[in-house]
Amino acid sequence: MKTIIEPFRIKSVEPIRMTTRAEREAKLKAADYNLFALKSEDVIIDLLTDSGTGAMSAEQWAAVMRGDESYAGSPSYYRFRDSVQELMPFEHIIPTHQGRAAEAILVSIFGGAGKHVPSNTHFDTTRGNIEASGAEAYDLVIEEGKDPASLYPFKGNMDLGKLKAFLEEKGDSVPMVMITITNNAGGGQPVSLENIRGVAALAHEYGKPFIIDGCRFSENAWFIKQREEGQQDRSIKDIVRDCFSVADGMTMSAKKDAFGNIGGWIAFNNDSLAEQARVRLIQTEGFPTYGGLAGRDLEALAQGLHEIIDEDYLRYRIRTNEYIIEKLDALGIPVVKPAGGHAVFVDAKSWLPHIDPLKYPAHTVACKLYEIGGIRSCEIGSVMFGRQTDGSEKPAAMELVRLAFPRRTYTQSHADYVVEAFEQLAAEKDQLKGFKIIREPKLMRHFTCSFAPLDG
Ligand SMILES: *Cc1c(COP(=O)(O)O)cnc(C)c1O
Repeated sequence: MKTIIEPFRIKSVEPIRMTTRAEREAKLKAADYNLFALKSEDVIIDLLTDSGTGAMSAEQWAAVMRGDESYAGSPSYYRFRDSVQELMPFEHIIPTHQGRAAEAILVSIFGGAGKHVPSNTHFDTTRGNIEASGAEAYDLVIEEGKDPASLYPFKGNMDLGKLKAFLEEKGDSVPMVMITITNNAGGGQPVSLENIRGVAALAHEYGKPFIIDGCRFSENAWFIKQREEGQQDRSIKDIVRDCFSVADGMTMSAKKDAFGNIGGWIAFNNDSLAEQARVRLIQTEGFPTYGGLAGRDLEALAQGLHEIIDEDYLRYRIRTNEYIIEKLDALGIPVVKPAGGHAVFVDAKSWLPHIDPLKYPAHTVACKLYEIGGIRSCEIGSVMFGRQTDGSEKPAAMELVRLAFPRRTYTQSHADYVVEAFEQLAAEKDQLKGFKIIREPKLMRHFTCSFAPLDG
């Protein structure tokens, strides 16, 4: 059969409240044109993020009932730990309430003024945590990864030449080498197993710990299986294990590839690093056998990790993005190709060349998409990355609109509706003028800043 169907039936539904364009225009204005400030009830299709928004399975809900809420030594922790270790063979698995809590602990160990931390592309919370500690974050993704039109199969790869030069130049001020799989901020593009091994080898040659931000490890492994030579006949589990077996530690948002609504973890092999992490954990998150999570959450994650490596699921998951990209492409709308793992990315810089990057073309598209179809997306461009640590503002490398798909949540007709909204937007886009920011916080401004539309 040619059609790749959603490999699940629906057992429990959530109604979507329909709204009119006039209502949505008023709601967006009242939210100061920040999509994060909208009430989710006023959104028809919510593609703001794939974080914690997926549907749990019947087996996960059943596991929730098994959750043991003991403060210390809960069997739910051990089931969680075993599930993680089946995929990621680290000695110490330390739960946290979400990914950024794991990052904060990592940075409490490795961050601080004068430090320099390289990655392919740091995700915004990773960068935020590093910079808040006084350290600097560097993105060393390969050139193909910055070209939305490049069809290179592993556009999330780190540039090994640049990494080597970086390690030479920065020397002792580099506390660790990181990599994000898949490369969320760079279009959800995968990193090859070969590149992961190459980065690990370089980090180790220079005596640095190698830490993987593993949020979308399963999607990344699916791409490796599809695209990397010699990986076609291997199981997703074996590929995942290979990726993590060369690392010294990892951070994880279990709201992504663990089918959780909440959760995360930090893992290390080294005993002393794990001890430092646990001390910090007790101060900020909780005792090491629950780490800010309820026992029932740990159970849901333990089960989710079994389900996320299912190939039928992964085939459907990646196909959703490809399907939309093919249709947008046919409409002449520039999209990041090939399709990434968790999201479709529209290249607003080339679609709306009449809007200067510092008038936020991707934010402009995201706002209009909401007005037209009630679809909530997310700007990944100069709003998110434009403000520099020295207070100046400069354009980001790309101006992307991210349509992130919650896991197992929307169907093909929802996808068709999204494409139709873009068709309407294509007819209106030449009249759009962009935005200015009228109020912003010191760090990570995109979550809470206020905008005003420009009219000239
Ligand atoms: C979501 C995400 C994080 C942060 O995790 P939270 O659970 O949202 O705190 C870190 N890195 C990447 C790549 C992510 O996608």
